[in-house]
Amino acid sequence: MGPIWLGIDDTDSPNGGCTTWVLTELLDEARGRGIDLIGEPRLVRLNPNIPWKTRGNAALSARFGKGRGARRRLGEVDGHPVWSYPVGRKISSKVAESFVEAAWWRVLRSSRTGEPGTDPALVAVDRRLPASLYWRAVRDVVNVDDLAGRLEREGATVRTAGANRGIVGAAAAVAWPGSHPTWELIAYRARERWGSRRELDAESVRRAQDRFPELFLCHDPRTRRVLVAPHTPCPILFGLRATRPDPPIAARRTILSEAVDRWVLFRTNQGSGDHLVARPVANLSAYGSAYIAGRVVSVPAVREGGHVSFVLADGAGDEITCRAFEPTKTLPSVAQGLRPGDRVRVWGSRDLSPDLRLEGIEVVRLAARWGPSRPPRCARCGRTTRSLGRTRGFRCAGCRRRWPPEAATRPRLAPELSPGIYHPTPSARRHLAVRGPEPGRTVRSESF
Ligand code: ATP
Repeated sequence: MGPIWLGIDDTDSPNGGCTTWVLTELLDEARGRGIDLIGEPRLVRLNPNIPWKTRGNAALSARFGKGRGARRRLGEVDGHPVWSYPVGRKISSKVAESFVEAAWWRVLRSSRTGEPGTDPALVAVDRRLPASLYWRAVRDVVNVDDLAGRLEREGATVRTAGANRGIVGAAAAVAWPGSHPTWELIAYRARERWGSRRELDAESVRRAQDRFPELFLCHDPRTRRVLVAPHTPCPILFGLRATRPDPPIAARRTILSEAVDRWVLFRTNQGSGDHLVARPVANLSAYGSAYIAGRVVSVPAVREGGHVSFVLADGAGDEITCRAFEPTKTLPSVAQGLRPGDRVRVWGSRDLSPDLRLEGIEVVRLAARWGPSRPPRCARCGRTTRSLGRTRGFRCAGCRRRWPPEAATRPRLAPELSPGIYHPTPSARRHLAVRGPEPGRTVRSESF
């Protein structure tokens, strides 16, 4: 075997655990054996609509070998620096095989095995798996049995405990091509603190976002929420997301918090919008996501809880109900301003219900808005006419001349909305959600 890819998934349960932390254990195992990390460890988010995910549908991968070239520091685990090399040489098959078995043992030891919905898996393979596998796993539902056969043909080593569903994430994390990445530096808590209240200074997080503009989704000025720390009993203390790899490394030192036990910088597909693909309504199946362009065909309705829904027809005339949820703040207020005839492009996902849960709205062109009809002015003497009843038209109060009902005027109203792209408020954005402005477009929401 040459340098090997390891992919892991499904090690955690809602009660605790974290697959990113398990990956730090593999980094420790590799260092102890003199095996080097090649490139960056990868945190890959998959189809956000999968019903059996624990939280954010994350899977992890990393490549290991004998490092060459200038090394970079990407973390610290158990007091030892994590070094990464740009390229790697082969390690012997014997060394690789025993590393894979030790890695699997570490995965099992640190998984919530036995808890419902925890089916840990490890996939080891000596080359990156085809990118098509990633695209299917981020956009659709992958059949586990088909994938198992595919992995066998690729010559992958596969280890699973419980159901073997975890191989989907483990393999897809290895298959991610790594293009248009973002980065997340994750800092972890000491084991004895897991489950207790996190000590983290919110103001230092806000200052870090101001000082390092490459950081994103650190806090939400509208809801005042700090977005870097989870609210689960998992080992993560905070995660700093960024559009470049170096700023989170520098920013980490400025965050005031309880002691950081270990930290690792991951290359991620977060903020990539990779789950979204332009599709007509007819091609959006259960658990899928899409960009859909079309025309608004209903007056928006405000539902209980402040959610707003409207019906959109695509180019083929197929209709879909779009739902803008209250926690996204921006989207329901934009949806409420839409009127039949408006041209929009929306994006979002569906589950078993056929409705599209919106993740963003682009208002492309607004139809004219007209106010209620008014009596016309008399064309002869300029005075306002009076209505004689709905079907009888109007009569001028001065010269008594009559005008037909069609002479009524309707003032053109200014729309309450401007064309542009609208994203949810930061605290309601999904991990994969598109990151904001597309080049050359007006953006009318908080961007980062
Ligand atoms: P966390 O974010 O806390 O790490 P999670 O949300 O990633 O947890 P998992 O416990 O990993 O949730 O469960 C997700 C499961 O769904 C995994 O077994 C994974 O292999 C599987 N899975 C992910 N994407 C797909 C897909 N597109 N098709 C089929 N199965 C999938």
